[in-house]
Amino acid sequence: MLTNQQKDELADFFSKKKKIALTTHINPDGDAMGSTIAMMHYLRAKGHDVTAIVPNKYPEFYGWIPGTSDLVIFEKNATTVKKVLAEADMIFSLDYNSIKRVGPMSNLLKVASGKKFLIDHHIDPEEGFDYYHHTTETTSTGQLVFRFIELMGDKALLSKEIAVALYVAIMTDTGSFSYAANYPETYHIVAELIEKGVDAEQVHRLVYDTFSENRLRLLGYAISERMLVWPHLHTAVIYLTKEDLKRFNYQVGDTEGVVNYPLSMDNVNLAVLITEKEKKIKLSFRSKGDFNVNLLSRNNFNGGGHKNAAGGQIYSDIPKTIETIKATLEPLKETLNYKLSY
Ligand code: 5GP
Ligand code: MN
Repeated sequence: MLTNQQKDELADFFSKKKKIALTTHINPDGDAMGSTIAMMHYLRAKGHDVTAIVPNKYPEFYGWIPGTSDLVIFEKNATTVKKVLAEADMIFSLDYNSIKRVGPMSNLLKVASGKKFLIDHHIDPEEGFDYYHHTTETTSTGQLVFRFIELMGDKALLSKEIAVALYVAIMTDTGSFSYAANYPETYHIVAELIEKGVDAEQVHRLVYDTFSENRLRLLGYAISERMLVWPHLHTAVIYLTKEDLKRFNYQVGDTEGVVNYPLSMDNVNLAVLITEKEKKIKLSFRSKGDFNVNLLSRNNFNGGGHKNAAGGQIYSDIPKTIETIKATLEPLKETLNYKLSY
């Protein structure tokens, strides 16, 4: 967390107009989008020259968040992004703990000379940043952004636009207040966001009730035709091939949330989604209770994340990936064998 000296330093830094770049992780989720957009509005309200960058295309169901149209997509505007990062006085890293999470933008970030500021809630953030506003004891980066605005003595700048973006961040990273949701502070913050004019039902509908027909049918197909259940491992796996995605006219974001469904079965403590991409297999892991998917992914699948939600990747094909996952889990089966109780 920030020291008092750093807070003073930052107050001094922000007292003059600065060029600021905001960055977030590849395949941005609701927390990445919400915390980046909220910071953009906040720092602009403070009078700075702010460019908010996402590495690649974001799902359309976040396109309605006020300010989204200002985001610069690196994949489409590499030259602009290169210049912005090179000239920035400060670069924020929002919702990721390691520079490699910005994908093909990583090198530009590494060589940039501006101050580096990490705001994040993933385990074990990488060294090398000038400032860290970090804890894992929170719902989301959005919640940390709220606290940062407060820390800088700027609660008066908290507008409806900022509140909506932060609400998206907190709502999506807690699965609508169903996991990582035991922090009383979160509900105090959410109460303030609603006081600022956030319509919680409307936000929920805009994010979750805007599926295309294809997306909903893909979800049904994934569960009915592409789900393997391994009762002795308390695990269920869903796999989607390139052909499956093509069949349902896959759009960015269409598989978001699919990985959560197997966890709705009793006795399933681990859910895995295997998605075949152009050059690799993307893995998503979710667990309920004690099983730590951050460690599972870090140790075996070139990824990481949080205790109950992590991602990874593997350069293989789908059948071999399924076998690898099974073989990796076999020796862990006792740690997967538990029942939630109250
Ligand atoms: P998802 O399964 O939704 O892609 O990711 C779940 C969580 O793990 C998110 O918090 C995401 O930021 C993190 N995550 C996803 N992929 C990776 C990865 O390759 N490396 C690390 N360190 N974290 C990841
Ligand atoms: Mn997050």
